[in-house]
Amino acid sequence: MHYTHEPAPIVTVPVTGSSAAFPVHRIYCVGRNYVEHAKEMGFTGREPPFFFLKPADALVVVPEGTTGAMAYPSQTNNLHHEIELVVAIGKGGRNIRASDAHAHIFGYAVGLDMTRRDLQNDMKKQGRPWCIGKAFDQSAPIGPITPAHQAGAIEKAEIYVQVGGQDRQRSQIDKLIWNIGETIEHLSAAWELKPGDLIFTGTPEGVAAVVAGDVMQGAITGLGSLRLKVV
Ligand code: MN
Repeated sequence: MHYTHEPAPIVTVPVTGSSAAFPVHRIYCVGRNYVEHAKEMGFTGREPPFFFLKPADALVVVPEGTTGAMAYPSQTNNLHHEIELVVAIGKGGRNIRASDAHAHIFGYAVGLDMTRRDLQNDMKKQGRPWCIGKAFDQSAPIGPITPAHQAGAIEKAEIYVQVGGQDRQRSQIDKLIWNIGETIEHLSAAWELKPGDLIFTGTPEGVAAVVAGDVMQGAITGLGSLRLKVV
């Protein structure tokens, strides 16, 4: 047997304090998981979490201490940043209970769920899938993964992103509507989680546009930072 073409390379994320790399399986994302962000998107009340996916090769992997680059994507005039805590799954499973979820987590990273908001809004209005607004090339910048045992009290961490040194989004992980364990419980009821899955857990309020030339700097307490230029 031989392949009809060269297989795509395995997408990996570096692990802080280690020479190991984390090979990525799928990227799951949670929609509207902070109250104030749900409000700014026009929604109120606690609804069950809902999910969408991005392809693994949409990641833009940015090593600590470097500035990554993403190209301003096609077909949009409203590219938004969404700073998010990313959970890296080390042990898979189905129907994982929230109280057992910690045993399935390898570590955490800082991520950006970059969004073509104009296209997403068009798709919402028409009741169509969000893929073109959310799952485009380079839509998932991510910093290195910090192993869970080195990450400290992540549930109480601060999360923020600045653009050009000015605050855009700033909140705390304890403001998640569905916390990390509850998110894993809901997600693993719908899909079998596998080692290598990444979960973008949702963004706090303050989402806004970036343009070519902007530099985003995001961070979460205990996880280091993610620095990215739009080119
Ligand atoms: Mn998001």
